[in-house]
Amino acid sequence: MTTSPMTECIVIGGGVMGLMTAIELRWSGLTVEIYERQHIGKEASWAGGGILGSLHPLNESAANLQLIAWGQRHYPELAERLHVSTGIDPEYYPCGMWWLTEEPDTAIAMQRWARDQALSLDIMQASEISEPGKLNISDNTLILSLPQIASIRNPRLLRALHHYALQIGITIHENSPARLIAQSPSTLQVQIADQIRTANHIILTGGAWSSQILPGEVLDIRPVKGQMLIFSPESPLLEHIVVAGDHYLIPRKDGRIISGSTVEECGYDKTPSDTAASMLAEKACQLLPELETVPVEKHWAGLRPGTCRSTPYICRHPNYSNLYLNTGHYRNGFSMAPGAAHLIASLITGTSPALSPEPYTYLPEETRMLA
Ligand SMILES: Cc1cc2nc3c(=O)[nH]c(=O)nc-3n(C[C@H](O)[C@H](O)[C@H](O)COP(=O)(O)OP(=O)(O)OC[C@H]3O[C@@H](n4cnc5c(N)ncnc54)[C@H](O)[C@@H]3O)c2cc1C
Repeated sequence: MTTSPMTECIVIGGGVMGLMTAIELRWSGLTVEIYERQHIGKEASWAGGGILGSLHPLNESAANLQLIAWGQRHYPELAERLHVSTGIDPEYYPCGMWWLTEEPDTAIAMQRWARDQALSLDIMQASEISEPGKLNISDNTLILSLPQIASIRNPRLLRALHHYALQIGITIHENSPARLIAQSPSTLQVQIADQIRTANHIILTGGAWSSQILPGEVLDIRPVKGQMLIFSPESPLLEHIVVAGDHYLIPRKDGRIISGSTVEECGYDKTPSDTAASMLAEKACQLLPELETVPVEKHWAGLRPGTCRSTPYICRHPNYSNLYLNTGHYRNGFSMAPGAAHLIASLITGTSPALSPEPYTYLPEETRMLA
């Protein structure tokens, strides 16, 4: 084993959470290195749909909504900054969301939620709409239009974040699987192959793999597989994100349309299945019949970092003074990443965060009961 010099911050995992955390820490003037097991931004963060808003806001905790709202406020400026600095456009797309329901009570609850979040919400009847491709929905469907909900082209965002991180002096080690080992009863160090690294602050952003990186402890993080399809029509067929129950369509700026997604508990297997492909294609064509003649360009799967308590862990570990967790963002990792990164950086630098940190703390006893 070789021991390298101490550094200020080591971030383990190079998905959206690791990249944004590293950038926030660097903006605070700290020296930051990222260790990524394979290549930057190729796991859940690549596989996601990039919707910047909750799919099911009425089921979301206040803690999650706080982070999502922060992301919604900060993405336009972040996307612009990345575009200008790197030349890579992450395609922030304020296309709005149409959330479909047949339940008037649900529409009223959604109106209340939108008011609390300072978001506009207009209720339309199915007969009033004019999309380029006509949605196949019943006459009693209510369309809850949320014009402020946007999306981001996540693979491009990741490329832009990667380039930007290098530009501002973050060191990135790819093909470098890391694990945490004890340095003392209350501090950890990072082992990468036969090298040991010590750091003032270690931030665990390992997504669905986070519990494997911290051996000997049951972290409340598990992989939840999600599969998606993308259609490539010759001309745009959809203007808004459309959420219909557990299925959604996302339009890209270039006209491509994503159909998502499955929610499967099957461990670390992320092989896309034919059954899921047929189901996602069928649901997409049911909702937007013009897709029936459009080729499917790609089908893929990713592993979301799920938690039993449905709220991410963004905190200092109670037993290790130099370990921080920023993981477990499940279906909202993109929406939450700017707020989560801000919070972790504030905890590390000792500045007062603009978001309340309490809901994201980690209590090992609570986790043992949940797991
Ligand atoms: C199908 C699908 C659709 C989604 N849609 C949306 C959406 O529309 N909007 C939204 O906000 N969110 C969405 N999500 C959720 C979002 O993608 C995730 O919450 C987010 O990407 C999690 O980011 P992360 O950086 O924590 O994890 P990841 O992107 O998985 O990154 C973790 C990284 O850690 C690395 N790693 C693992 N082990 C080690 C190790 N030992 N050493 C070093 N590195 C290691 C991995 O290789 C990986 O690169 C979706 C997810 C899926 C799967």
